[in-house]
Amino acid sequence: MLNNKVINIAAIFSLLVLLFLDKYLALPIPFWAYGLPLLIFLPPTIHGAMNIEAGFFMKVWCKADTTEKVVALSFDDGPDAIYTPQILDILQQQEVPAAFFCIGKNIRGNEHLLKRIYADGHVIGNHTYSHDFWFDMKLSGNMLTDMQQMDAVTVHATGLTPRLFRPPYGVTNPNLARAVKAGNYLPVGWNIRSLDTVAKDETELLNRILERLTPGAVILLHDTRKITADILPQLIQGIRQQGYQLERIDKMLKVRAYV
Ligand SMILES: [Zn+2]
Repeated sequence: MLNNKVINIAAIFSLLVLLFLDKYLALPIPFWAYGLPLLIFLPPTIHGAMNIEAGFFMKVWCKADTTEKVVALSFDDGPDAIYTPQILDILQQQEVPAAFFCIGKNIRGNEHLLKRIYADGHVIGNHTYSHDFWFDMKLSGNMLTDMQQMDAVTVHATGLTPRLFRPPYGVTNPNLARAVKAGNYLPVGWNIRSLDTVAKDETELLNRILERLTPGAVILLHDTRKITADILPQLIQGIRQQGYQLERIDKMLKVRAYV
């Protein structure tokens, strides 16, 4: 499989071959040929960083390996004072378990929501404390501190230490891979991106998700959006109409959710 180690080796190897041909065999290598290692390195590396499913820098659990008709809902970026309670009410009425990848700073003042998420039978995951726009530029030690800060507020509110970690913006890189390993987190992604953060049309959003259902799929939603709360009853109904059951992500992936 193409991962960053294979690509790095291929890029360095091509550079060494060029240097060998140029310096030792004195072949006329045009200067633009030195762009080749960069061309080998950059496109797959950028693609790998932006696509969590690629598993380019580390293994990320993005779906369950199953033929059973099960899928899991996951909500990122909360808790939100307005939409998290609405979403929790719907999940409770429909008896659907879900995962909430919470942002640590959003827990402050919303500790009661975090407690309810757990009490209602959902799972709490780590989505960093800051969800900083520049998170991916941080050194691995600083990333880990940020992630552990999220753990600390969760422990304070619920006594639980999350093990599941979802990278902000779904971006992965070598520093994050180091931080995840050092913190013993289990990185969790998705394989159905709803795009609910930019969606304007309810039917389009529903169709986008419902057309992509496959056994073991992990659906990415956000409990910070009105449209997400609005479509949720129809989404659950649509999933069930296709013969799928909604399972909690840790059960579906057969992993432990807390330390
Ligand atoms: Zn996020």
